[in-house]
Amino acid sequence: MDFSLSVEEREVRDWVRTFVQRDLMPREQEVLRRERAGQPGLTGDELRELQLKAKESGFWGVQTPEEYGGMGLSAVMTALLEAELGRTFVPFRFGGAADNILYYANDEQKERYLLPTISGERKSCFAITEPGAGSDAKAIRTSARKDGTDWVINGEKTFITGGNEADFVMVFAITDPEKGANGGVTCFLVDRDAGWKSEYIDTMGEWGPAALVFEDVRVPETQILGELGHGFDLAMQWIGAGRYLLPARAIGSCERLISMAIEHANTRETFGQKIAERQAIQWMIADSGTELEALRWLVLHAAWQVDQKLDSRHAQSMAKLYGGVKANEIVDRVLQIHGGMGYTRELPVERWYRELRLLRIYEGTDEIQRRTIARNLLKGHVKVGGTLG
Ligand SMILES: Cc1cc2nc3c(=O)[nH]c(=O)nc-3n(C[C@H](O)[C@H](O)[C@H](O)COP(=O)(O)OP(=O)(O)OC[C@H]3O[C@@H](n4cnc5c(N)ncnc54)[C@H](O)[C@@H]3O)c2cc1C
Repeated sequence: MDFSLSVEEREVRDWVRTFVQRDLMPREQEVLRRERAGQPGLTGDELRELQLKAKESGFWGVQTPEEYGGMGLSAVMTALLEAELGRTFVPFRFGGAADNILYYANDEQKERYLLPTISGERKSCFAITEPGAGSDAKAIRTSARKDGTDWVINGEKTFITGGNEADFVMVFAITDPEKGANGGVTCFLVDRDAGWKSEYIDTMGEWGPAALVFEDVRVPETQILGELGHGFDLAMQWIGAGRYLLPARAIGSCERLISMAIEHANTRETFGQKIAERQAIQWMIADSGTELEALRWLVLHAAWQVDQKLDSRHAQSMAKLYGGVKANEIVDRVLQIHGGMGYTRELPVERWYRELRLLRIYEGTDEIQRRTIARNLLKGHVKVGGTLG
């Protein structure tokens, strides 16, 4: 068993680490200032400029297949890279990416949706959640009714990331109420000018998702993504594709937070001693460091399973669950170690505290991950302790 990184993995990791330190971290104070004034941390132009800068060094379309101009990096490599990006809260992502399910587009749709999304000319959003259907995604009620050769969409979606900025939506609607999620849900590509409305939802995080409303939004049949009735499978593929990447990013955030806690513990004195001398503080550092390492291996193992084309759902659920729970415990301890300063807006700890909280909710809550893990174990789909075969 070899836990060391390959030369290529180390090179990619180191390049991203340098990029984060050189190009992103210096923007942190300005990002905080803007966000606290209710503005986006980075403007669209600034994000684009940073993405193009990364592109000059070849960092573009990290997981986009090479035939589409991307790097086609492995899941392990992407997890390593995501962890590096997590070391800062500057809201950066590499350019050149498109949603995995857009590759199911036909040639004409690829020209209109996939390629412009990869190039950054168009922005997509993914809309399955509804006011009455979140964890229970099969309970969606948004409908698409056939009228001649058109489909007419009615319904409401909620908590849609990027929904207020998107040029088009991949929306999931019931096309056959009798079949429901078993062959009766279809995904439609719907341009904003087809008439759907969006409204920003204020959250405790720094950017807001949106509520979308479809009122008799009419689209031709050519807007179906994939096949009629196969939408639920696409939705599950979208959600399942990058579950390991959410906790991967948290690895970097936890590394940075623990480093901040160590620095503070080694300088702050109370009762004539550094607080680092106190066992209460030492144990918080020890637990956080241990859990961070456990998280790293859960994430890398899930990513490795993805690369091996194994069924990675169980490993991904474990990584997502553990990442959400432990990142939140770690940020809470780091805030505690900073005392009153941790609670202020002078430090970014409270920002991470709010951002990391989301990890326990979106793309499958803690409870839903536990449900999956328990079902696999109780029904024997996965053998207890069977990780090594
Ligand atoms: C910031 C943000 C961004 C998001 N982005 C998107 C997006 O881009 N696209 C999209 O479609 N959706 C998006 N979502 C929606 C997100 O996936 C849902 O919020 C999430 O799946 C939970 O659904 P819910 O909010 O309806 O909670 P509910 O499903 O109502 O759950 C409420 C509580 O009950 C628990 N619970 C539910 N069922 C069970 C069960 N069987 N057993 C035990 N406990 C259970 C849950 O874990 C939770 O604690 C986003 C959400 C947020 C907050």
